[in-house]
Amino acid sequence: MPLGEFDLIERYFRKPAESLRLARGDAPVGIGDDAALLQPPSGQLLVAALDTLVEGRHFPLGSSAASIGHRALAVNLSDLAAMGAEPAWFLLALTLPAAQPEFLEGFAAGMLRLAAAHRVALVGGDTTSGPLSVSVQALGFVPPGKALRRAGGKAGDLLYVSGTPGDAAAGLQLELAQPQSSAVASTAQRRLRDRFLYPEPRVALGLALRGVASACIDVSDGLAADAGKLALASNCGVRIDLERIRFSAELLATHDTAAAARFALAGGDDYELCFTVSPARASEIDALAANVKCQVTCIGVLEDGRALRVLERGAAVPIDVDGYDHFAHR
Ligand code: ADP
Ligand code: MG
Repeated sequence: MPLGEFDLIERYFRKPAESLRLARGDAPVGIGDDAALLQPPSGQLLVAALDTLVEGRHFPLGSSAASIGHRALAVNLSDLAAMGAEPAWFLLALTLPAAQPEFLEGFAAGMLRLAAAHRVALVGGDTTSGPLSVSVQALGFVPPGKALRRAGGKAGDLLYVSGTPGDAAAGLQLELAQPQSSAVASTAQRRLRDRFLYPEPRVALGLALRGVASACIDVSDGLAADAGKLALASNCGVRIDLERIRFSAELLATHDTAAAARFALAGGDDYELCFTVSPARASEIDALAANVKCQVTCIGVLEDGRALRVLERGAAVPIDVDGYDHFAHR
């Protein structure tokens, strides 16, 4: 007997999500009514983000169900992190070609594992049939005046990035070449692939950067494009010093530095935070990052003007942020 919509929601989403909603105590009505009832802390602003993942476009055809579930929530938590918001709840709009229990089990497990790690409760959604597509709306809070914005950076502010950019793009390339074949992959390859399949949203870092960072964005389209967006919103230019970007041991074990740089600058999918800090506050950053157990690296600076410049030991590296063509053939 095919699984009805009610049973599907009940089994894979309402039941496993219920304990987290109850534990939070701020969502008196969750899944099951016509809409959820949510109680934000008084005096705080509600922060809302929504991102859709479409099969074949935002994840490869045949990706593991757990990864699809994880990523759909992770990319939205990353947007909240980039605003310095504390995530609280999320809604899920799921479009499925068929109600396959194996897929649904993996998908819900991947999504709800990440939800539990960040104490965000699934409080509602929609389920329809059609080509596989997943939309998540994440909701969180920030005190007035404390949100991190793309605007706010000033010429002279130092540019930082968290983690080791480039891993996810390298991982995606591996996943496209050998989908789900962990048997033949080296440890380094598996780790890179996991950085694409299971990105870790930098929620604690975003919270710690409240009142410290002058501007912030999460890196979804590659460091060059996203640092460029931050700079544009801040009415500045930006310089990235290529030799300062910290690549992971796994990326360097499997690729030369030109390929690593290309993945980091133009690859995307890292979901790291890219942020700016005034020179006067830069001395606070190491301790702040250590506190939230997240590596951050200063990779450049905001400048006067509007240009996006990538330098390698002082020499200009040609980069086309829209096409990346020059850089790709370096
Ligand atoms: P309605 O027709 O009133 O929109 P639905 O039958 O679509 O109601 O949904 C019933 C309940 O299940 C609602 O509370 C809705 O928020 C929730 N829901 C539906 N699909 C999902 C899903 N994929 N994940 C979480 N909650 C869902
Ligand atoms: Mg209704």
